[in-house]
Amino acid sequence: MSYFTHLECAVPCGAGPYDPRQRQHLCTCGAPLLARYDLDRARQWSPRTLADRPSTMWRYADMLPLLDDDEPVTLGEGFTPLLHARALGRTLGLSRLYIKDESLNPTNSFKARGQSAAITRARALGATTVSVPSAGNAGNAMAAYAARAGMAAQVFLPRDAKAPFVRECALYGAQVTLVDGLITDAGRLAAERGGPLGWYDVSTLKEPYRVEGKKTMAYELAEQMDWTWPDWIVYPTGGGTGLIGMWKAFEELERIGWVRPQRRPRMVSVQADGCAPIVRAFAQGTERAEPWANAKTVADGLRVPRAIGDFLILRALRESGGTAVAVSDAELVADMQEIGRHEGVSAAPEGGAALSAIRRLVRDGRIGSDDTVVLFNTGGALKYLDVLP
Ligand SMILES: *Cc1c(COP(=O)(O)O)cnc(C)c1O
Repeated sequence: MSYFTHLECAVPCGAGPYDPRQRQHLCTCGAPLLARYDLDRARQWSPRTLADRPSTMWRYADMLPLLDDDEPVTLGEGFTPLLHARALGRTLGLSRLYIKDESLNPTNSFKARGQSAAITRARALGATTVSVPSAGNAGNAMAAYAARAGMAAQVFLPRDAKAPFVRECALYGAQVTLVDGLITDAGRLAAERGGPLGWYDVSTLKEPYRVEGKKTMAYELAEQMDWTWPDWIVYPTGGGTGLIGMWKAFEELERIGWVRPQRRPRMVSVQADGCAPIVRAFAQGTERAEPWANAKTVADGLRVPRAIGDFLILRALRESGGTAVAVSDAELVADMQEIGRHEGVSAAPEGGAALSAIRRLVRDGRIGSDDTVVLFNTGGALKYLDVLP
């Protein structure tokens, strides 16, 4: 049972609404589409029902994009632990530092959430081949969920993608194409090849459902914090799906009455010095982000020179009273190890970057010692071990 009704332009530009029983990718104005629900009716849904629900992100199925009798394509994604990081917090003078450990998802990253939702819709819409440009994790997750759903998978990776990402795609039977250049170049080639063949494109924000999967991080956070919000959410940002999804979830949870419309968390986008288009746009006060030239960082998920949802990311940062921080590769690699050493958590470079950003905000006096801070460890370290000294 879901309250899902239709799709709407994220701007919104006035075009639409769009019918979710058809394949939909972008709005006619070129902006992403977002899933909308009957929030008035959803007020009858009670958190008490969660006691009998599966411990996956599909426990929030009422607010996920299911139609009719759709069954989710699932590998047990979501409902990851929220760990109180006492020892790590002590090193920073923080008493309430928490790690949302997304490394425990299928295929080792939070990309599983988005792909579970996207592949569920793709299957319902009759897709037989799905394709995605990826820095690595999105491709691995899509390949796994496509296999689970019995679909063919086409993954386009930059030629310099790390070997574990390439090989894990193959493990799930996906076809891998290595592309000279960055994820944006991979996206161009995937669209060129797949367009005429009718492949279903699950590029970040070019279909409306990955955001829906990733928004469940906020539903979980609220449930795990007893329907309150932390003061800060620190989120390593590439295409921004997770941040946009969580911001959307805050509104949904307020509108259905599960969380009081109190102050929402301050959202912090973390990027790498070598690719920080959102940080630059935030500092300049612009609504859109200029593409970043010569993007370079070991945090593959952050090597996204241009995000089509840039305006949605920047809106959330500003409306929340948050900020955007860029950190060096040296800092983020050192902080992967700090997370590992103090907490036993396997952190991707992107998770390390989130710790480096927290360190900076504590030093600058933005984050106070009693603030509740949630670090999103978006993936695990195992596919990135080559970055360690
Ligand atoms: C993709 C990815 C990111 C960035 O996620 P977005 O939601 O697209 O901003 C961060 N960390 C890891 C490990 C990733 O794979």
